[in-house]
Amino acid sequence: MRHLKCSSDYLSEKGILVSMMIIKCAHCKGKLFKYIKIGRGAVWHCWKDRIVEDYTIKQGTSIHCSCGALIGTDKGSYIKMHQAAFITVGH
Ligand SMILES: [Zn+2]
Repeated sequence: MRHLKCSSDYLSEKGILVSMMIIKCAHCKGKLFKYIKIGRGAVWHCWKDRIVEDYTIKQGTSIHCSCGALIGTDKGSYIKMHQAAFITVGH
């Protein structure tokens, strides 16, 4: 178990923005993931080793919110996110 200390945004040694974000369901606004984002721009994939907290429900390779909304697809080392299904909240 890695210890992830990420209470606020910071820049890595290479100057890349690293930030903690909350990914929420666009339908019910429930929490889906607490996720460490590296770099700027949209979230297209959620790499599993950067997910700090996971509130989703798995059904095979489908990732669902507790409200039932389909959030993404499990691709092994990452989750391919459905762009209309989630919102992100910076932290
Ligand atoms: Zn939901």
